[in-house]
Amino acid sequence: MSERTSDIGKFDAIIVGTGVGGLYAIHRLRKLGLSVRAFEAAGGVGGTWYWNRYPGCRCDVESLEYSYSFSDELQQEWHWPERYGTQPEILRYINHVADRFDLRRDIEFNTRVKEAAFDSDTNQWTVRTDKGHIATARYCIMATGNLSTPRQPSIPGLASFTGKWYHTGLWPHEGVDFTGLRVGVIGTGSSGVQSIPIIAKQAKHLYVFQRTANFSLPARNMPMPPDKERAHKAEYAARRRAAYDTPFGIAGHPPPVKSALEATEQERQHAYEAKWAEGGSISFLYSYTDLLVNQESNDTASEFVRRKIRATVKNPETAEMLCPNNHPIGTKRLILDTDYYETYNRDNVTLVDIRRKPIQEITPTGLRTVAAEYELDAIVFATGFDAMTGALKEIDIHTDAGLSIQATWKGGPRTYLGIMMAGFPNLFMITGPQSPGVKSQMILACEQHVDWIADCIQHMRHNGLTRIEAEQEAEDWWVQHNNEVAARTLYPLANSWYMGANIPGKPRVFMPYVGGVTAYKKKCDEVAANGYQGFRFATILQDQRAAAD
Ligand code: NAP
Repeated sequence: MSERTSDIGKFDAIIVGTGVGGLYAIHRLRKLGLSVRAFEAAGGVGGTWYWNRYPGCRCDVESLEYSYSFSDELQQEWHWPERYGTQPEILRYINHVADRFDLRRDIEFNTRVKEAAFDSDTNQWTVRTDKGHIATARYCIMATGNLSTPRQPSIPGLASFTGKWYHTGLWPHEGVDFTGLRVGVIGTGSSGVQSIPIIAKQAKHLYVFQRTANFSLPARNMPMPPDKERAHKAEYAARRRAAYDTPFGIAGHPPPVKSALEATEQERQHAYEAKWAEGGSISFLYSYTDLLVNQESNDTASEFVRRKIRATVKNPETAEMLCPNNHPIGTKRLILDTDYYETYNRDNVTLVDIRRKPIQEITPTGLRTVAAEYELDAIVFATGFDAMTGALKEIDIHTDAGLSIQATWKGGPRTYLGIMMAGFPNLFMITGPQSPGVKSQMILACEQHVDWIADCIQHMRHNGLTRIEAEQEAEDWWVQHNNEVAARTLYPLANSWYMGANIPGKPRVFMPYVGGVTAYKKKCDEVAANGYQGFRFATILQDQRAAAD
């Protein structure tokens, strides 16, 4: 941290991060009349969409859904050119929102929050940044994102590599031209699968180093059909409301009515074919009621996709390597692609199985597995993130009662509703662990949390309250409930980032709430309607009296 410090003052709320959640928090809290200051590590707004500029980066939720709902004018006026937004398009949209609602004036860019400390005498948080800023506020809102801490594996020899290397989540702004180069991509999650077809078209040769084969479905991207856009916009408000009544926060997909096992083999094939042709992951998982809870049902969908892979990829050995076989479909993030499997029919693409023959080291001129050496000019790490807890744990969040997030979350995250942590008063998280965030339409999830937090702050201001804290019993119950809900599904069967399984040494705990957006929102609304059940409020005066007793 810098030696020089500058006190930039007192605010009602400090917001950490200006992705879609943080930006909306600035807007919403300002409307309540609060003074806010946001800190942003990046040079601009957008969070995920600021950093992930890799080739082919695109959202896997349709653009008419993946957008803010808080301003009808905004949603009516913005035109999405394609079914799924590209990264540049989404970033353009987020920048438009920042300008339109004049959000930038309260943001310190290129500034990373390093520490947040709670003082119970004043019920205030003091935040320190890497630029030496010190700021205090009653409320601290962590809008730090779930997939914002890129991680590349510590493979020996990287420092000796004489070529260039990149992480998909920290992509150079000027872009990268792979023309004529021998390129290695490590990782075949969403980022790898989206970038591989594009890199393959540029590279002299592309080596894909795959540890785990993942399920991917065709996105079927297309230019936005004008009649679809018109129809959607005509009923936008109703659609936004309807989204809250769905498990993933995305409206427009009729809910399934029966188990995959109640259908005949022929019916199932017909249903899966229709979804495959339509494109989209939610619609596919919506084929039957029990694809995510019944292994036998799931097997029918998993096998359908494996057959598609075998039918697409001409080399049978490569096809078999691409067939996922260690997790049920949908239990890792189901990927949407454009020409992913087709890419392996190109002469300049080689798939390397690093599960059976692991990477040993990176050499000055490439990469060596236990079986062979590959000459490379560039390496792309599509190796993911320290998801859900990484960004929060990188900040030294602590209280004067001696609690720290690092110690409290040692065995995995613990939250009440994914919004607050017991022992950390006045500290809110947007789409924190144990909320449905990453298992839903993320912008909807951010809006729901920000609205809930804003209403809560409003409640406190009206009632002269200066402190809110989750009760320990409420948190314990919510953590247990989360685990029980997850245990009723197939999700824990996969070594996914939902489980923390991609980070060596990270506790294996299923982190998102998978009881569905409907149940979750109902619970949050009930908690608020019942006087913020499970939360304890106080004023400074009450605290002082309690201490004296
Ligand atoms: P990811 O899903 O965690 O995938 C990381 C990949 O790197 C996996 O194939 C993983 O293999 C591999 N890997 C990790 N460590 C490795 C090691 N030491 N050696 C070899 N391989 C290693 O990360 P991601 O692709 O960046 O995606 C993360 C999430 O971001 C997605 O699930 C999605 O939620 C979001 N995302 C969304 C979009 C979209 O909207 N379309 C696009 C990109 C990302 P293992 O599976 O064996 O661990």
